[in-house]
Amino acid sequence: MIHSRGLQFAYPRAEPLRFADVSVAQGGTLLLRGPSGSGKSTWLALASGLLTPTAGEVVVNGQSVGGLSAAARDAWRARHIGFLPQKLHLSEALSVADNLGLVFFAAGLRVDRAAVTQALQALDIAALAARQPSQLSGGQAQRVALARALLLRPSVILADEPTASLDDAACAASLSLLRTCAGSLNATLVIATHDARVWQALPQASVLAFDAGVAA
Ligand code: ADP
Ligand code: MG
Repeated sequence: MIHSRGLQFAYPRAEPLRFADVSVAQGGTLLLRGPSGSGKSTWLALASGLLTPTAGEVVVNGQSVGGLSAAARDAWRARHIGFLPQKLHLSEALSVADNLGLVFFAAGLRVDRAAVTQALQALDIAALAARQPSQLSGGQAQRVALARALLLRPSVILADEPTASLDDAACAASLSLLRTCAGSLNATLVIATHDARVWQALPQASVLAFDAGVAA
């Protein structure tokens, strides 16, 4: 469950971005739809507590995200939010399996190797466990990032432009995978995108429309 009221954020020396109110039931899908620079990534950062609103609030599963202390927020994010960033940020110093293992450290938990193996198996990439990120194709790297995002069974999955660099077949496969994974966890799925293929593929999703320049 996500809802927002009067949400605003101002970067230094910039006009505040004002976001329309939104309400999505648990397990629902929300598209943040709008052109580049309209505030979609900022909205995701507010919903995951990476940024603090300058006005209003976003409530995720009953928790007002901006109301958490900085320390509590990191732990809360690690436990509740599965983030699929636009840049995947896999560590080249670590194998695929150890990249997933890092998630447990971030959440203050002991590394659960069996859960890592299970997450890789669920996405059909168990064979890649020992590879370095540079040895993955783009599609494989995205699956690894998705396995990482899902590892702690988050109640919310936030995906930032997940289809931007994909051809049509890979775009459809990626959306279908995201929906299947969200469905299996009954997680709320939020996809920020300026890709028309995404909203065509997800006609039932709720939409938060962003205008160019300032959010609606
Ligand atoms: P989108 O994800 O829709 O492309 P963003 O949320 O990244 O949009 O950006 C919204 C607006 O905020 C843009 O005008 C962008 O230039 C500005 N912006 C984004 N990040 C920063 C930052 N760290 N400092 C200042 N301005 C920023
Ligand atoms: Mg963005």
